Amino acid sequence: MAEGLDYVNPHYCPVYQRIISIDLCFDSLMALGRDVKVSSVKELAVVKNIEEARKICAACPYSEL
Ligand code: SF4
Repeated sequence: MAEGLDYVNPHYCPVYQRIISIDLCFDSLMALGRDVKVSSVKELAVVKNIEEARKICAACPYSEL
C-alpha cells in the first residue's frame, strides 16, 4: 500500500469525478481491471468511455491495493 492514501474513508475518484466509498472504488477497480464484468457495477453505467476509464483507473494510486 502506498503511503498517504486513505483506504478507510471515501476519497475522490478521477473516473467518477466525485467522492466515492472504498467499496465502490474496490468494485470499480475490479471491473475496470477486467476481473469482473463492467456491467456488474451499476455505477459504471454513467461512465461513457470505459476504455479511457480503464487507463485513468490503472494510473490512479488507489488501484495499487
Ligand atoms: S482506483 Fe479506480 S475506482 Fe478507485 S479511486 Fe482510483 S480511479 Fe477510482
